[in-house]
Amino acid sequence: MSPPPPLRVLISGAGIAGPALALNLSRLPSPLKCTITIVERHPDLRASGQQIDLRGQGVVAMRKLGIEPQVRAVVVDEPGVRILNRKGKTQAYFGSNKTGKGAQSFSAEWEIMRGDLCRVLYDATVDLPGVRYVFGTTVETFEHVKGGKAVKVKLSDGSEEEYDLLVGCDGVGSRVRRRMFTDGRKDGLFPAGIACAFYSIPPAEGDTPDATWCHLSGRRGFMTRRDREDCLRVYLMCAGDDEQMAKLLKHSTVAEQKEAWAEVFKHDLLDAWGIRRFIEGLHSPQADDFYAVEFAQVKLDNWSEGRVVVLGDAGFCPAPLTGQGTSLAFAGAYVLAGEIARACGKDVQEDVNPWDNVPVALAAYETELKPFVKTVQDVPVKRIVSFMCPESAWVVSLIHWAAWLIAVLRLNQLAAKFGSDDKGSWRLPDYPELSAPKS
Ligand SMILES: Cc1cc2nc3c(=O)[nH]c(=O)nc-3n(C[C@H](O)[C@H](O)[C@H](O)COP(=O)(O)OP(=O)(O)OC[C@H]3O[C@@H](n4cnc5c(N)ncnc54)[C@H](O)[C@@H]3O)c2cc1C
Repeated sequence: MSPPPPLRVLISGAGIAGPALALNLSRLPSPLKCTITIVERHPDLRASGQQIDLRGQGVVAMRKLGIEPQVRAVVVDEPGVRILNRKGKTQAYFGSNKTGKGAQSFSAEWEIMRGDLCRVLYDATVDLPGVRYVFGTTVETFEHVKGGKAVKVKLSDGSEEEYDLLVGCDGVGSRVRRRMFTDGRKDGLFPAGIACAFYSIPPAEGDTPDATWCHLSGRRGFMTRRDREDCLRVYLMCAGDDEQMAKLLKHSTVAEQKEAWAEVFKHDLLDAWGIRRFIEGLHSPQADDFYAVEFAQVKLDNWSEGRVVVLGDAGFCPAPLTGQGTSLAFAGAYVLAGEIARACGKDVQEDVNPWDNVPVALAAYETELKPFVKTVQDVPVKRIVSFMCPESAWVVSLIHWAAWLIAVLRLNQLAAKFGSDDKGSWRLPDYPELSAPKS
């Protein structure tokens, strides 16, 4: 019997979800095979970003890929988080739980710089047979062809090609998602009303490897994290309405955007701990990595249309405030590949194209994963935002008092001991159809 032709897959986005899917798809059972093209808008691997964490079922899905040693090697050692008052005094301290058991605290066992995780996934996939990365390129347009059995894609380099499957892994602002529904259905993007600016500044004596978090009134706050000794990462946070978000984010240059953020904190320059250093640090060479985003969730009624499907933040971003975006991306990549293996791999026969079952796999992927996504996304976003960026000094005091009480009564340690990082009862399914990872 001659083997079926390979599944021609185009993945848009070489962040976390895209390469994780490619790695999972490389394990389809014989005689199934894929050719995978990953297009990335950025001119090279966009290995930037701050700390991301893997939790619960995301860790299970990462392990399924056989990359645990490589990920372990780049884990950031963050001992815990300090809640500080505006004088820089510790109000409460929460150590991380590194026992591998129970619930994680703010600093997870698997804290990783996003760029390091990108590189681990890229290195694990770049030399795989049938996998090809194309940088500086994006999906321009696509149309369903062959009675819905293929999708014809035009890329930004002018080339046109037909694929059996197009997967949008192009992040929260996904272009694939925006073009997927031609019948007027909504884009599914729900802004959370909080923006965050991320950048690095030069180190100073006394910088702690703990994360620090300082709440300021006026719907603002800031954090620092230190994954390495030659710089300190600063996160400025500000909540507000659409007008405030536009003031912070809609600028034509990074310099203007930095000025807008400095303006928000200018009244604190004299007396809030660290803030003068952080604002002045906006102009340091280290702060060339500055970027600012508004947090948002993506909620769609359907994740696929014909042979086009979304995965990761593109399809179901839970917003960084849940700390679960990367875990969802890993779990989603495993489930999508697993369902393709299951639906297309059974009873492979001569004269029957196994890839005719791709729509069955896409439907099963959505049915299987959606309950997990729903539990993760189902958080009181507004309440979390008003905790992260409180309105009044009174609420700041309340947060400090509550944090102190939790730390003193060791409620966080109890929660860690008896709790779990898994939201709800969802567990990653097992797909024995996928071959064992190559270690
Ligand atoms: C630069 C950056 C920094 C981040 N920093 C943090 C952070 O500090 N903390 C945190 O919790 N989460 C952060 N995230 C988000 C986090 O990586 C994701 O929530 C999660 O890991 C899921 O990954 P993803 O692959 O679905 O999306 P992403 O990691 O966002 O990856 C999407 C990829 O698609 C590419 N892309 C975008 N548009 C197109 C297009 N039109 N065509 C082709 N490619 C495209 C992007 O350049 C990127 O490489 C960041 C994302 C990015 C892109």
